Amino acid sequence: MLNEPLKINYHSHTKRCGHAEGEDEEYVLSAIENGYRIYGFSDHIMLPGFPQLGMRGNYELQAQNYYDSVKQLKAKYQKQIELHLGWEAEWYGDLFADYYHDLLAKNTVEYMILGQHCFLDRGHFVFYGNMFDKQEAIRKYASDLIAGMRSGNFIYVAHPDTYMIWYGKWDDVAKEVARDIINAAKETGTILEINMGPSRWGKKTDEYDFRVAYPNEEFWDLVSEAGIPCIIGVDNHRPYELKQSPYDWVRRFAKRHGLTPLDHLELPFKVR
Ligand SMILES: [Zn+2]
Ligand SMILES: [Zn+2]
Repeated sequence: MLNEPLKINYHSHTKRCGHAEGEDEEYVLSAIENGYRIYGFSDHIMLPGFPQLGMRGNYELQAQNYYDSVKQLKAKYQKQIELHLGWEAEWYGDLFADYYHDLLAKNTVEYMILGQHCFLDRGHFVFYGNMFDKQEAIRKYASDLIAGMRSGNFIYVAHPDTYMIWYGKWDDVAKEVARDIINAAKETGTILEINMGPSRWGKKTDEYDFRVAYPNEEFWDLVSEAGIPCIIGVDNHRPYELKQSPYDWVRRFAKRHGLTPLDHLELPFKVR
């Protein structure tokens, strides 16, 4: 079948984050329709006392509803699909360390993936890409990401090479940062994700084996050399993206880098 969807996806969002569309059930029905065997919700983590409009839901108002909704769908569709409940979260150092640990230790969620988009500076969220000094930005991105991997809360890193979208060039600093991230993944036994976001919405070089900012060709050559396990994440923010994503393209990407993406994750994740 042309552009056959994947069978598993652990990276997906809900409209609660403020930049996604569709009802939770529509995501599940689309996953079933498109032949998914395993589907995990990993919406942008909601942070107690720290709302961030347009980026994540409001913890006090929406977190319980997210948990309840996914659990209800899990029971309702258990014969058709294996559903999982998780979060995609940034690592904010000590600030939310206990919160994250408890989410896993108390089985509130089954897993968390580390997606480092922004950091907190005196109570304000800052996106790495908005920092003035881009070299400082990628170094800070990498050091926050590595601290997250070492925290033991995350089963995998979402789009580890996301910095290439705002850094833009594969120079010595980009390479150094890639090596640091890959070494930390190796040391901590963390899986790295080939993310499909930009393959849908990003700037592409051509139609067939196009290049996007991430997954970045050079970064993934290094991952492949290091022998780090990888997984593909659809990172869908709309139900129909489970059909309309360039699956054949991502399979070719993995193949030309000699990567064999995992076909499932062991859940629930055991927090370290
Ligand atoms: Zn998002
Ligand atoms: Zn995501």
